[in-house]
Amino acid sequence: MVSFERLYKDGHEEVIFFSDPSCKLKAIVAIHNTTLGPALGGTRIWNYASEEEAIDDVLRLSKGMTYKNAVSGLNLGGGKAVIIGDPKEIKSEALFRSYGRFLESLNGRYITAEDVNTSVEDIEHIFTETGNVVGIAEIHGGSGNPSPYTARGVFRGIEAACTKVFGNRSTKGKVVALQGAGSVGRHLGEMLYNDGAQVIVCDISEKNIELFLQKVPNAKVVGVNEIYDVECDIYAPCALGATVNDDTINRLKCKIVAGAANNQLKEPKHGDILREKGILYAPDYLINAGGVMNVSIEFEGWSNDKAIRMVDTIYDTTLEIFKISDEQNIGVHRATDLLAEKRIEAIKNISGKYLGNLAHRFPGRKTRRN
Ligand code: NAD
Repeated sequence: MVSFERLYKDGHEEVIFFSDPSCKLKAIVAIHNTTLGPALGGTRIWNYASEEEAIDDVLRLSKGMTYKNAVSGLNLGGGKAVIIGDPKEIKSEALFRSYGRFLESLNGRYITAEDVNTSVEDIEHIFTETGNVVGIAEIHGGSGNPSPYTARGVFRGIEAACTKVFGNRSTKGKVVALQGAGSVGRHLGEMLYNDGAQVIVCDISEKNIELFLQKVPNAKVVGVNEIYDVECDIYAPCALGATVNDDTINRLKCKIVAGAANNQLKEPKHGDILREKGILYAPDYLINAGGVMNVSIEFEGWSNDKAIRMVDTIYDTTLEIFKISDEQNIGVHRATDLLAEKRIEAIKNISGKYLGNLAHRFPGRKTRRN
């Protein structure tokens, strides 16, 4: 249940339920923290077993967005939304437009984007009713597909890890075990190949492996269960979360874990075990932030140059986190949280200053209709 005790505990500011039986809309928006700016996070559609499960998910994910946006240097807070139901049954123009109208009523406190089971087409319907949405098509002034930017950020994170472990940022000659040849995996594979790395790849989809091999012709393909056992320098999870767990952690033969997947550590203790084993873990929610960085600049006018400049900061921030981890003798996952919290606190402390007549940083934009 949502209770004030629970919201106080994790620091959530606001939780809103939107209901419209005419189009089967059951949506929950959680705004976790807006110290740095309006809350940004995607809308996920999922057939949750219970409303309780949906509430748990939206509270957890919105808090995660506060940390991700903060450590990525964005002037954005953290929020997330879930729509309850089977996407195959409930998705419709009316549902997304009704949802968009509700979002408009939040006056820009929450900005949404794509997430699991929402597509660019769905976002277009939301955009018909509210300007507080990013990840829209390039033709409407949006930033298009985020995956190349996510892959670029992951590559920068891998370079930072190579700098720390091997004393050189290049991946040339390094063996990378890449799990997942999807949108991000394919772009990452190409960057690694161009840099001279040797890629070992696995995927449950033969079609995606085929597409991958067109970009990375010398990649070695292994079974989905074999990927944890291969001799490699870098394990790059780009498919699923929680793949560093009790079953896999002793099988990994790498020196670095760095990939695009969210929540790669099943539990925080797995980050500590990696550290004890001398395996460097690159902070997942920072190095996969290229996509959110890319969409975040839509409001100021998106350009490829701006996006690349922002994504490339991931290299330096990752090195800074490794430094905090060493200095404080804590796991990288804990050091990443610390850096995010430190930034939020520092910016909170300057918020009492009078700003004069400065325009609001995120004025929003008009909807497609007006
Ligand atoms: P995707 O769906 O395009 O690709 C995922 C790939 O993993 C697919 O090819 C799928 O067949 C494969 N896969 C699924 N189960 C597998 C298994 N057990 N073993 C091996 N392969 C398996 O997704 P994506 O957009 O490439 O994202 C990859 C990961 O990165 C996801 O965890 C996603 O949440 C995360 N992420 C993506 C972005 C982005 O911009 N796309 C941003 C941040 C985080």
